[in-house]
Amino acid sequence: MDIKNIQIVSDSLLCTGCGICSIICPQDAIQMKKDETFGVYKSIVNLEKCKSCGLCLSSCPPLTWSNEDRKNGRYNIYVGNFLKIFSGYSLDEKIRFNAASGGFITTLLIYLLENSYVDGVILTKRSTKDPIYSFPFIAKSKKEILEGMGSKYSPVKFDEVLKELRESDLSNIAVVGLPCHIEAISNIKDKRIIKKIKFKICILCGQNTNFLAYDYLMKIFNLKKSNLVSINNRGHGWPGFMELKTTDKIIKVPYTSNYSMGMILSSPVFTPFACHMCVDPVGFRADITCSDAWLKKYTNNDRIGRNLVLVKNSKILEILNEMTNKHLLSLNEETLEDFLKANENVFINKLKYAPLKLKFFLVNKKIKKIFFSKMKFDNNINLLESIKIYIFMLHINFIKKIGIKNIYKFLNFPILFYFKILNLLKKGKYNGK
Ligand SMILES: Cc1cc2nc3c(=O)[nH]c(=O)nc-3n(C[C@H](O)[C@H](O)[C@H](O)COP(=O)(O)OP(=O)(O)OC[C@H]3O[C@@H](n4cnc5c(N)ncnc54)[C@H](O)[C@@H]3O)c2cc1C
Ligand code: SF4
Ligand code: SF4
Ligand code: SF4
Repeated sequence: MDIKNIQIVSDSLLCTGCGICSIICPQDAIQMKKDETFGVYKSIVNLEKCKSCGLCLSSCPPLTWSNEDRKNGRYNIYVGNFLKIFSGYSLDEKIRFNAASGGFITTLLIYLLENSYVDGVILTKRSTKDPIYSFPFIAKSKKEILEGMGSKYSPVKFDEVLKELRESDLSNIAVVGLPCHIEAISNIKDKRIIKKIKFKICILCGQNTNFLAYDYLMKIFNLKKSNLVSINNRGHGWPGFMELKTTDKIIKVPYTSNYSMGMILSSPVFTPFACHMCVDPVGFRADITCSDAWLKKYTNNDRIGRNLVLVKNSKILEILNEMTNKHLLSLNEETLEDFLKANENVFINKLKYAPLKLKFFLVNKKIKKIFFSKMKFDNNINLLESIKIYIFMLHINFIKKIGIKNIYKFLNFPILFYFKILNLLKKGKYNGK
């Protein structure tokens, strides 16, 4: 097959925007750019510089993802290998209240840093200059870790921060990222980077939101982009609130409202195409993965915040024990069944529906051959599910063809409601396998 470099991934709009190819290319032939039509980052190859060495192809997450059994603990195709599962939260009430879910990640990062397990942490914060953008940075103090607390539903690329890490004199760092970031980082072979990464901490991810969603929010709330001071996607309890702050207004809506993750931010119009075809919910190569505890036993009563935690690394397990003994975390063991149930739509979409979605996606046939080649899927799909996915993908193809910017002016609430209903087609049940 005559695929020379990752340009084909980018041209198919399936680039996750991780940025890793641009730092590993020995010819410096790859640049990351913002795609204005679709509101995501994508890679661009300078074909004159490219020597077709194939390194970028062997580092690109959608081409390397694998849920194979690595013989490290228990195994399940939905999550890969794992040692233990917990529900829990930070015992620092302020962190628990203001973090995305239960403040587990922030508390773990502070502990790792303050107890010299690491000398730096890579995490992500929103830009203060233009809060629509979020970027990863290296934190070296508790204060800086707190600045990166919370979820950013926004594309985040890791090329710049990893260049900084490569040149830095740090020796042990922890990195927090989405499954596509963790897979990309795990693919790096440059010892100046990979030797420094001690722990990979992953956020379970159903989907992300493109930049255009925020332009749209500005429009419907009648806010001026130039006056924007901050965007907070989560926080203030659980599931929390989204807050948009300008110099003269504060808009605060519940996380589950139609203005936030209930519709606009989770709409297929504002979901990057790469997320529709993503097959990694947990970061198969992470050391630990944290999610929301979307289980009835918690959603009915908990208004402060709680995580589910999938532990894959024995050293992390030891550290969590230390932290519970020191009354920094509250942890209860949970079953795999409950972990999967809490985010069943995410798991079903990625490990069951993704191959079908790719099949119906109007895209270069060559890409269909190289995607997901190392993945095992739950193939137990019935006819009704196939029809549902076919209808869903008809609309995704329509959005791809027309371009979000071009349908933007017609994007009013009734159309978004239509897309919200369309999202129901992706709903599936985890059958306890
Ligand atoms: C795009 C996205 C999709 C998600 N989808 C789901 C889902 O479907 N189901 C579910 O249960 N949970 C999902 N989560 C995870 C959930 O929102 C929490 O992030 C997670 O439970 C950790 O909670 P916490 O309280 O421990 O986090 P905190 O203590 O607040 O720490 C969060 C950490 O994540 C980092 N971070 C935030 N956003 C990003 C980003 N975009 N890229 C890289 N790093 C980032 C922050 O810098 C911080 O270090 C998603 C999160 C994101 C950002
Ligand atoms: S094939 Fe090699 S030279 Fe070409 S863009 Fe990829 S990494 Fe760079
Ligand atoms: S997904 Fe990452 S590695 Fe693959 S093309 Fe996009 S930026 Fe490059
Ligand atoms: S759904 Fe996949 S590709 Fe999209 S942000 Fe999440 S991990 Fe990355």
